[in-house]
This record gives sequence, C-alpha cells and structure tokens, in this order.
Amino acid sequence: MITEEIKLKVRDIVGSENVLESSVDCFGYSYDSSFVPMSADNVPDLVVIPSTTEEIAAVMAIAHEHSIPVTPRGTASGRTGGCIPVQGGISLALHRMTKIIELDERNMMITVEAGVRTVDVYNFCAEKDLFFPPDPASWKYSTIGGNVGENAGGMRAVKYGVTSNYVMGLEVVLADGSIINTGGKAIKNVTGYNLTQLFTGSEGTLGVITKAILRLIPMPKVRNTMQLMFPSLDNACNTIHKMLMSGAVPAAAELMDRISLQAVARHRKLDINPSIEACVVVEIDGESNEDLQKQAAKIDMIANEFEVAEVRIAASQQEVDEIWAIRRGLSSAIGAMAPNRLGEDISVPRDAFPKTVRLIRKIAEKYNLTIAVYGHAGDGNIHPSVLCDLSKPGEEHKVHAAVDEIFDAALSVGGTLSGEHGIGITKRPHIAKALGESGINALKMVKQAFDPKGILNPGKVW
Ligand SMILES: Cc1cc2nc3c(=O)[nH]c(=O)nc-3n(C[C@H](O)[C@H](O)[C@H](O)COP(=O)(O)OP(=O)(O)OC[C@H]3O[C@@H](n4cnc5c(N)ncnc54)[C@H](O)[C@@H]3O)c2cc1C
Repeated sequence: MITEEIKLKVRDIVGSENVLESSVDCFGYSYDSSFVPMSADNVPDLVVIPSTTEEIAAVMAIAHEHSIPVTPRGTASGRTGGCIPVQGGISLALHRMTKIIELDERNMMITVEAGVRTVDVYNFCAEKDLFFPPDPASWKYSTIGGNVGENAGGMRAVKYGVTSNYVMGLEVVLADGSIINTGGKAIKNVTGYNLTQLFTGSEGTLGVITKAILRLIPMPKVRNTMQLMFPSLDNACNTIHKMLMSGAVPAAAELMDRISLQAVARHRKLDINPSIEACVVVEIDGESNEDLQKQAAKIDMIANEFEVAEVRIAASQQEVDEIWAIRRGLSSAIGAMAPNRLGEDISVPRDAFPKTVRLIRKIAEKYNLTIAVYGHAGDGNIHPSVLCDLSKPGEEHKVHAAVDEIFDAALSVGGTLSGEHGIGITKRPHIAKALGESGINALKMVKQAFDPKGILNPGKVW
C-alpha cells in the first residue's frame, strides 16, 4: 500500500511530472515483450521515472523503509516477463537515464547510464573505430541496464561473447538505497568477490544498475556476409562445427529451419526452394579484403564437403542487407504466421543442436503444433517459436505442455533453460529442474544477503 504521504515524498524526489499514478498511465508498465498476458494484477501502483542515481537511491530508501516492491524497467523488450511488476508497488523506469558519460579511447572503455540504448553505444563507439559487440536483435530499443540485467547475447556471441564479457564495472543502487561501485577500468581485478558478474544477469533482483563501464575492442576493418542453403539440417550444423574447429571463426553463425524460412518467404515474398531444410547466415570479419576472401573460401569449401545446395557471398552492401533482413525480420515473419506465438530460448552444447531440433520436431508432432526453430547455432542457442491460437479451447494448456517438454529436451542433452532471455516469470516454474533444490537455495542465500526484505523485483527467477 503506497500512502499519499509516501507518494508526496517520491514526487519531491523526482518531480511530480516524473511520477505516474493513474491506472491508465500505469497500465503501460504492466507488460513486456513476453508471452505473459496483460493483466490488471500486474499494474504497478506507481511509475517512477528518475533521471539520476541519487534520485533512485532516495526512492529505494523510501521503498525499503516501507517494504514497497520495486521493479526496475528498461524498455520492456524482455522475453520472460522480467520487468512486469507482479506484486504491484513501484515500476522504476530507467529509460530517461540516457547519458553517455565518457568514452575513454586510450583504455578502450565507455561509461554509460543504464537507460542508453544498445544501438546508441554501438554507433557512438563506431565513430571512433571502436566496437561494442553485444547485439541482441532488439538492440534498437533494448537498454544497457536491461542487457546487463539479462546478460543479453546476440548474433555475434559466437566470436565475441555476450554482455558479461564486456561489463568491467557497475554503479548499483542496493535495496536499502545505498550506492556501490563494482569493478572498474583495471583489466585485472581480484579485489573481493566479483560483484560485477553477480549483478550481470541478476534480472533486477539484487540491485538497480545505474551506470556501466563497458569494455570495447577495435572495430574490425572489413566485414561480409554469406548465406548457405542446405537440404539437410545435420549438414548445416556439421558445417558450423567444422568451421569453428578450422579456426575460421565467424562473427555470427545463425541458423533458420525450414518452417522459419517458409515464414520469411511468405512474409517478404521471396522464392525459397522448398527442399531447403536449413539456411545458415554467416558474418565474417577481419583486417583486410584478402583476409575475408580467405575466410569465405574456407567456409565455402567446408560447406561443399557437407553438400551445401547454394552459397551466396554478398557482393555489395545491398546484398549484405538483403541477407541480414531475412534473419532480422524472422521474428515478425514468424509472428505473422499465427494469431499467437511463444518464442522460447534454450541453450545446448553446440554439437547437440541437430539432436535438439529433432526432439523439438517430435514434440511439435505430438502436440500437433507448428514450431519454427532458429537460433544462434554457432553457440548452441536455440529459439523454438511455438505458433498457436490461444482463442482455441485447450490450446494454451497444449502450448505450455509442449514448452515443458522442450525444456526437458534441452536438459536431456546437457543444455539449459535459457541462453540469453533469463528466467523472469515465464521460466520460473521450471528452474528447479535445472538447478535442483540446493542450487535454488544458494540463489536464495544471495538474494537474502542483498535484499533481506525481498523488495527488488519480487516473484521472479525461482
Ligand atoms: C524482437 C526481439 C528480439 C530479441 N533478441 C534478443 C537477442 O538476440 N538476444 C538477447 O539476449 N535478447 C533478445 N531479446 C530480449 C531482450 O531484448 C533483452 O533481454 C534485453 O536485454 C532487455 O532489455 P530491456 O531494456 O528491454 O529490459 P527490460 O525488458 O525492461 O528488463 C529486463 C530485465 O532487466 C531488469 N532491468 C532492466 N533495467 C535494469 C536496471 N537498470 N537495473 C537492474 N535491472 C534492470 C528488469 O527488471 C528485467 O528483469 C529480444 C527481444 C525482442 C522483443
């Protein structure tokens, strides 16, 4: 219960224009990009839109004193309901904290506020020939705070890693309103526990990230894209394995199965041979065109060993854009195939990719559902998309049963429930089978240490 007196204090801190109170205004903060249906139960009592760390600290101190739930929010592109305020209270929306504080070229690091969009960090650095690689497909709108909160991955993870590989330090407001700084610009740093990595991927449950120091690398001088079409899914995966073992490590190796390709073909009015079982989009980068040509020739040779049907090496930026448009437009193309769609995110050892896809196909058959499969095959991260019509009686139950089996399939091949989208609400019922009771108890002990009153993003992860 947030009393008028508390609301007054919060308005004093951030300014009344930065506090939303009406249920209509607050409704917009009750959902994200996940499958979680909109519900009046998830509407926050108050939306607070701070501009500084000090404002956040003061709001947290009040929330702590009165045991009010606080759910941090970037731009709600999350896929697991992470920023949905399931217990009401305050939705703390960080999208106005968009300052790029410092670009330190000599140390190759950038310090930004949590609400800066991923694409803005990329573009800002690119102007100085510096490269911030993490690139979730949502990068045009997802924030750095959200990316750190979820430890977001993306297309280039196969060569460059995920967000956590680039987070050097954080400024964090803790549950009681105190401000701490973790890590920093020193490249080697073993002073105390590695809190930077603990907060990364903590889904807003341990602290509010207000600033991040991010590591950069030199921008590759040249890039190109290849599109490989295979009549066999196994051979598409075999090509990726051999590519990685050969040292021709692509920046990205994305795989789309037949159903995904058909969705794109329909959506973009493309002519794709129906015998094609898998399309692999490969990005290569390097220091010179000669270097690129060598990599492309090696990949071409390997793909031919595995009976590739068609190899396209982009000959112009327009062709690069055309190939990537297929992959980047996949989400909307698949979404257009059915009234509803549940996009999942499992992660398996790379060599289990084809086996997992086959298991998913069996599950689709068992439940008579269409499941499109695509993903970051270079790092074993699969996104099965269950197409459905929730207005049909029994459909929702069927979809959840199928997803349950998809998680079992991932675990059975040595994989896990999420590669990049986190647990949030949607995977919360399943986490016990991945971590076991003692694993969950360990998470609870960490939570208890940072947030003994349980006010930060309650109802998530376990
Ligand atoms: C079309 C589409 C494509 C996507 N592609 C990818 C992809 O390729 N790879 C990938 O990894 N993800 C992807 N995502 C998922 C999503 O974009 C990422 O999880 C993203 O990092 C979330 O950022 P956000 O700013 O929207 O965070 P939100 O959704 O607002 O929040 C996500 C979580 O982070 C917490 N959080 C947010 N800000 C803070 C903060 N400042 N401090 C503490 N906690 C915070 C929230 O409480 C919540 O738990 C995709 C989503 C969509 C819709």
